[in-house]
Amino acid sequence: MSTDTIKTRLIHAGRDTPIEGGSPVNPPLVRASTILFDSVAHLQDVRSRRNTERLLTYGARGNPTAYALEDLITELEGGYRTRLYPTGLAAITQTLIAYLNPGDHVLIADSAYEPVRHFARQFFDRYQISYSFFAADGQGIEALIRPETRLIYAESPGSLVYEIVDLPALAKLAHAYGILLAADNTWGAGYLYSPLELGADIVVSAATKYLSGHSDVVMGAVTTTEAAWQTLNLSSDAHGMTVSPDDAWLVLRGARTLSTRLPVHAAGALAVANWLLKHEAVAMVYHPALPSDPGHALWLRDFSGANGLLSFALKDKSEDAAIKVIDSLRLFGIGASWGGFESLVMISNLKKARTVTDWGGQGTVIRLHVGLEDTRALIADLEQALPA
Ligand SMILES: *Cc1c(COP(=O)(O)O)cnc(C)c1O
Repeated sequence: MSTDTIKTRLIHAGRDTPIEGGSPVNPPLVRASTILFDSVAHLQDVRSRRNTERLLTYGARGNPTAYALEDLITELEGGYRTRLYPTGLAAITQTLIAYLNPGDHVLIADSAYEPVRHFARQFFDRYQISYSFFAADGQGIEALIRPETRLIYAESPGSLVYEIVDLPALAKLAHAYGILLAADNTWGAGYLYSPLELGADIVVSAATKYLSGHSDVVMGAVTTTEAAWQTLNLSSDAHGMTVSPDDAWLVLRGARTLSTRLPVHAAGALAVANWLLKHEAVAMVYHPALPSDPGHALWLRDFSGANGLLSFALKDKSEDAAIKVIDSLRLFGIGASWGGFESLVMISNLKKARTVTDWGGQGTVIRLHVGLEDTRALIADLEQALPA
């Protein structure tokens, strides 16, 4: 056989072998950049419909594995459709960019994931978008609404200390003023909380956390109502937003066990929270499933459960005291993110992460993510790390 023939065969062989028999449980991992069409007419027909229908046209516009994940998240969140983004942060920034135009004003929760604050400070001036922060529990928000307010961006429970906002009340207020409501549902993972059912128009989440659940992939998702969909969809296509099929496949695999993982994380976190509450060295424990938590009543009303996150402050308010505890822990890894199978610890400063609420001297909190380890072992680790 000539090498020319081999060259051609190498390219054409083995590409349309029909598979006989049944079908695999999981959707196939389909890697694709170029998509081929039968004729120019076929290509033109598909292109003319791709802005309104989900059609395979080019890898930068999605792939079948990502479509499967989009459908799963759409079902979880109870929305119209879902877009995927390379990170949770990209999902948030793309949402802000899609719905806000020069001259618009946006209200952002004081409890929002800290990089959202950073993004607003870095880029909103350039886009001529103005912004204000509202108290994490929603107090006083109506007075902050301006004629040009277009979007309210909520996060409930909030990052680091889990403040809860009355989302149905916020949705009512937003809609009375013709304002869209977006909510970050990373804490609820599309499973413990349903912002769209409670009245939000847009729900954002980091699939990086519980949905994937294995600390091996980063991804973001935005699900919207039918009315809000096209604004996001067209903007995200224009910005070239898609995810790799390999990453989508990993998130899909992790998502299958979400409902069995979350209650284990939650039971562990509640046990640790209750143990910390009784500890001499601990001043404050933040976890919405604790009856002492300010958001507890709303959490009971609007959420179906909790997760593995909790934070606490020491009576010794110095940063050094917190660092000493963290460095003494053996089973909690020191690192960003959460939602994987493993326990993590992180130091946070609320003075930087909140501007509406005055945290006074209580700046430093220790955030724990309680993983799937034996809870007694985690408590024993905390016991040896905390001052006697
Ligand atoms: C982690 C996180 C994000 C961002 O997700 P990444 O994938 O890390 O970019 C967004 N919102 C919340 C509440 C988060 O905890």
